[in-house]
This record gives sequence, structure tokens and C-alpha cells, in this order.
Amino acid sequence: MNIILLGPPGAGKGTQAEILVEGRGMVQLSTGDMLRAARTSGTEMGDLVAGVMDRGELVTDEIVIGLIREQLEKGGSGFIFDGFPRTLAQADALANLLDEVGQSLDHVIAMEVNDEALVGRIVNRAKQAAAAGQPVRADDNEESLKIRLMEYYKKTSPLLGYYHAKGQLRWVPGLGEIDEVAAAIAGVLDA
Ligand code: AMP
Repeated sequence: MNIILLGPPGAGKGTQAEILVEGRGMVQLSTGDMLRAARTSGTEMGDLVAGVMDRGELVTDEIVIGLIREQLEKGGSGFIFDGFPRTLAQADALANLLDEVGQSLDHVIAMEVNDEALVGRIVNRAKQAAAAGQPVRADDNEESLKIRLMEYYKKTSPLLGYYHAKGQLRWVPGLGEIDEVAAAIAGVLDA
């Protein structure tokens, strides 16, 4: 089974992906994590995307599609696409890539949240990281967050209509406790 977790920044996609990895042995493919790793290891691509990411803008389709292609070509299944696709071009590319490797997309799980909760969650994530002596994401500040939300509404939210039209969209409430959200997702996967 291959699924997409779809939702605005701070919706809890990463947290739920981790639960699915632990509980079901699925494989998380987070383009955000891959891009952050590229930056840390100082690759040319990492340097190229650093400013764009810190501002909260989307990096080019070409770069993220390349990252996902690389992972899918390694084989396997049970993928959770987390933070990808974020544009219609990426969604089309994903359909083609899955086709090429003989896989399909089973569900697109959309996490329903509201903007006020998101800002609170992200500000909290930054505070908690700082308190624990962990690095705070450079894009977890109010200015970048505004841009990230705008990018989501302009470029990513059209995917909701796209996957609805394909009959693949499943909504879960994203604002509950972590295990409530996990249970709602499990309900979709086990239906
Ligand atoms: P995330 O960890 O998913 O919040 O991603 C952090 C940042 O990485 C985003 O704000 C973008 O700058 C970049 N990024 C991650 N995934 C994508 C994607 N699929 N398309 C474009 N940019 C992305």
C-alpha cells in the first residue's frame, strides 16, 4: 500500500508518518527531510535550496521529483509520501513514476486543520526544540510560516480537488490528539 499524507505545514504529517513506520513497517519518504539532509551534508543541491527553504518557498519541481525518483528506483513498497507532492506537476510526476516501477497510489489522506492552530503548533515546535537544546528549523518563524501557508494554499491545496476527482481523497480530522488522528488514519487504511 502506498499513501500520501496531505496537509498544510504543522498539520502533523511527519508525526503520523512516524507512527505508520513504527506500527506497519511502512517507508516514509519526506522530501523536506531529504532536502534538509542535503543541506547538512553540504551538497551542491543543498546549498542551492537553502535560501528558498528558509524563506518558506517551494523548491523547484525538478529537484524534488528527482529525489523521489531516486528513492522509488531503489524498489520496495509501502511508501508514505510526506510533504510530496506539493504541486500539480509533482502529482502528475508521481503518478508516472509509480507507474514506471509497477506501483500504484492507494489513498491520499488529507489532514483537516485550521490556520490558527497551525501557527500555534509551529511556534510551539520551535519553542520545544529550543528548550530541549535541539536545533530550531530555520523556517519555523512567523515570517517564513506565512509564506509556507501561502505556498500551501496557492500551489498545494489544488491537489485536494485533483485527488478528489480521482476518487482517492480521504479526510481525517487533524486537530485531535496524536493517537486519535492515528486511529482515524488506521480506519482509512484498514477499511
Ligand atoms: P517540510 O519539511 O515538508 O515542511 O518541507 C520544508 C521545506 O522544504 C518546504 O518549505 C520547501 O521549501 C521544501 N520542500 C519540501 N518538500 C517539497 C516539495 N515537495 N516541493 C517543493 N518544496 C519542498
